Amino acid sequence: MRIPCPYCGLRDAHEFSYLGDATVSRPAPDMPDAQEAFFHYVYLRENPAGAHEELWYHAAGCRQWLVVSRDTRTHEISGASFARAPKADASHAEVKP
Ligand SMILES: [Zn+2]
Repeated sequence: MRIPCPYCGLRDAHEFSYLGDATVSRPAPDMPDAQEAFFHYVYLRENPAGAHEELWYHAAGCRQWLVVSRDTRTHEISGASFARAPKADASHAEVKP
């Protein structure tokens, strides 16, 4: 599997570390059901068959966190973007394989 890094170009997946689902967001600690929300945030994940947004870290490259759009059935990657917008020029922040 090859991942299109916005900085480095198309690179082998072995250069990256997988973190997980990019669609979950950290709950506010002061919300009324924060304990249960944090349990779901930390331990419970969906296991979708199909299109999925994932966090990948380019450890052997630019050391940026990426959001990679991947089909979990075929491993086809439809795009990648920075998890956070870079501070400089963000015009190349979205790439397609
Ligand atoms: Zn990179």
